[in-house]
Amino acid sequence: MVLRALEVREELAHTLRLMAAGELVRGTEGNASARAGELVAVSPTGLAYETLRPEDVCLVTPDGLLVEGPAPSVELPMHLAVLVARPDVGAVVHTHSPRATADPSVPVAVGLSGTPELGAAVVEAAVAGHAVVIRDHGPVCFGADLAEALARAFELERAAT
Ligand SMILES: [Zn+2]
Repeated sequence: MVLRALEVREELAHTLRLMAAGELVRGTEGNASARAGELVAVSPTGLAYETLRPEDVCLVTPDGLLVEGPAPSVELPMHLAVLVARPDVGAVVHTHSPRATADPSVPVAVGLSGTPELGAAVVEAAVAGHAVVIRDHGPVCFGADLAEALARAFELERAAT
């Protein structure tokens, strides 16, 4: 369990670096989460992804209590809403990819950043699917693991070009 959490934090740091390198996010925008045993690993707020270390990745309980690491992303309630509602989802990637905001094949959710209501709206819009676009904001992609969620985020960006 402890070892698994370390692996997930490393994988999450790697995923955030790929999001920045792939220009799906700029600066500290966007965020990602993944199940780590009974806990959830989630990106921190306000730290540059290019130089992120595994220990900079937060570990929280499914209720959102911080167990280890710095202050979590402001979008934590949305990540937890998805992971709690969808046992089939192991990881969530939220980007601000420049183009993937108006793909008509992707359901749209409406809500304010950082609110639990946004989480509920994303879960509701997704139904059993794996991608939602938050209106005037950016996509949220789900996967069985981080690699799958990130691949969907890149796929959505490509499809929109
Ligand atoms: Zn965002």
